[in-house]
Amino acid sequence: MKFSRNLKLLVIAAISLSSFVLVYATSIDAPSQALVAEAAQSDDRIFAPARINDKRQFLNLDPERSSGSAAVRIAFMVRRFGTWFRSGADAPKRVDNDGEYLKRNRSEATITWVGHATLLVQMDGMNFLTDPIWSNTPSPVPFVGPRRWVAPGITLSALPPIDFVVISHNHFDHLDLPTLRDLAALRIETVFLVPTGNGQLLRDAGIESVREMNWGDVLTLKHVTVHCLPTQHWSKRSLTDTRKSLWASWAVTGSEKKFYFAGDTGYFSGFETIGARLGPFDLAAVPVGAYEPTEMMQGSHLNPEEAVQAALDVRAKSAVAIHYGTFDLSDEPLSDPPKRFKAAAANATTGELDGWTLNVGETRLF
Ligand SMILES: [Zn+2]
Ligand SMILES: [Zn+2]
Repeated sequence: MKFSRNLKLLVIAAISLSSFVLVYATSIDAPSQALVAEAAQSDDRIFAPARINDKRQFLNLDPERSSGSAAVRIAFMVRRFGTWFRSGADAPKRVDNDGEYLKRNRSEATITWVGHATLLVQMDGMNFLTDPIWSNTPSPVPFVGPRRWVAPGITLSALPPIDFVVISHNHFDHLDLPTLRDLAALRIETVFLVPTGNGQLLRDAGIESVREMNWGDVLTLKHVTVHCLPTQHWSKRSLTDTRKSLWASWAVTGSEKKFYFAGDTGYFSGFETIGARLGPFDLAAVPVGAYEPTEMMQGSHLNPEEAVQAALDVRAKSAVAIHYGTFDLSDEPLSDPPKRFKAAAANATTGELDGWTLNVGETRLF
């Protein structure tokens, strides 16, 4: 019996190893540092469409920061195995949300944290989701991959009718095909907005109502205007598609409220431009986790202090912390991101910011 238990553990470890190698090791071929293309100039849009290099890879607005030496990245991968024994005691609390209020609500602007970068937003008579993931593992292999600490704060069937979904990029913790398929099946009218180059992935999964947008593109959906905007990030889902599809943040503006979703991003100059042209925002959702090891993460993720600065740059009155405490993705202690985010917002010297950390499943008016 002991032998078969050990064998089972060995098989689990082997499957996990291949999954982690796919998710993390493939990111070792660091983004090209030679950024050659010139930005196109245009006065009638906030940002030019993203530049592409001679390998047909999308480029960031700002120069790349180092994504760490091979030694740092390999050591990080090896440490990932220790996370099987990591305690989830400091993960965010979860409150059960039965969705009844959200289904009845027609007038209040609300935000509900489902977990990770998934938010349900209600504003200007519209319901939309950001980077929806209801799966247990953000991974190409179902059931295997980084652990989910906290179950989604609301079930898919308890959601109000979703008008549209915005997706920031194709990393598995942000673009979860099983969830997108379920959402498309729940309501045929739901529109899925993705950055350029991600549409086919959804269409291949049987999702038809997909709209690709590039940085600076604007779309009106009933009562709101949706702006596709830059982030400082990258993309990869397989061994051969590094940076072949675009990454983005999204602003949703209506006559009553303005909301900004930063997606997954490092700190960059674009936040100030977004704030100057579209701000002030009533609420910004900013990612505050997955920032250690710094050498590896600084180019593509914000630490909590940078997240506060980003929210100030886009001229947000309030900012809600996302992208922490839900999946086990990085080295920092589970309790650090929300603590550091609250402290940084309270101590901000360059402006006033109401920094929110929510329970998973919690709904708050904005
Ligand atoms: Zn990402
Ligand atoms: Zn992410």
